[in-house]
Amino acid sequence: MHQPTILVVDDDPTNIEALSSALLEHYEVRFAMSGTEAIAMARMMPRPDLVLLDVMLPDIDGYEVCRLLKTDRLTASVPIIFVTALSDPVQEERGLASGAVDYITKPFSPAIVRARIRNHIEMRRAYELLQRLAVTDPLTGLANRRHFDEALLQEVSRHRRHGMPLSLVLMDIDEFKHYNDLYGHPAGDDCLRLVALTLATALRRPADLVARVGGEEFACLLPETDGKGAAILAERIRKLIIDLAIPHQQSNVAIHVTASFGVSMLDHQHQEAEQSLYQQADVKLYQAKAQGRNRVIGP
Ligand SMILES: [Mg+2]
Repeated sequence: MHQPTILVVDDDPTNIEALSSALLEHYEVRFAMSGTEAIAMARMMPRPDLVLLDVMLPDIDGYEVCRLLKTDRLTASVPIIFVTALSDPVQEERGLASGAVDYITKPFSPAIVRARIRNHIEMRRAYELLQRLAVTDPLTGLANRRHFDEALLQEVSRHRRHGMPLSLVLMDIDEFKHYNDLYGHPAGDDCLRLVALTLATALRRPADLVARVGGEEFACLLPETDGKGAAILAERIRKLIIDLAIPHQQSNVAIHVTASFGVSMLDHQHQEAEQSLYQQADVKLYQAKAQGRNRVIGP
């Protein structure tokens, strides 16, 4: 496992040296000597796990640097600790009010600096884990409904700005209630996991999102994909699910588990709301079911 990265911001080389030597053993240390440089370096990948920020800098003062980092989506979640010689409660309050998580006054004890940094990095990791869990479906590990709804809003607004096509595939496992009734819920869960894995494997582009949006219903949100491409993908997934050959003796469709698909798209002549993209796919999915299931309908 690689070491966390700390960005040390200070215009005094002596301070940079003191902090670096306190941290080098446990952290990857980068440094910046002005506010402008600090902002540029905080945005660079990999982003720092924590920023140690001096208040008095030659260009932008530390409070302003902190405020700018906290209002930039790319750096907003990076914890910032002020390190300063100003040991005045008013200054400290100002530092914390500008979004910093902690305030350390110089001269500092290296052991205390390390302990505080470790605590804040651990808290941030726990927070990120919680955030990840909040958008993940626990059974399948796919994105959950909440994540999907947020992504749909974002992608529709991106589509409005750039006019690139946006497609949606909704998929429902056929006769799944019968499957659960016959084989039991643990087997039903295994079936859902297998199907989820198949979907996740079929979607390879990083911008594509696959989510579990209902009990046995899944969605693939496909930016920069037209309806034709989305229908081809849906057809490929339909065949992959047949290839899984999961026995389903209570199905009226086939002897194996199958799925039905509805596909919809937004293109530049056709700017509709996210509701409509979802509703259209849902209507097509309903048609796929009505026409005998195990098929792709749309866009
Ligand atoms: Mg300074």
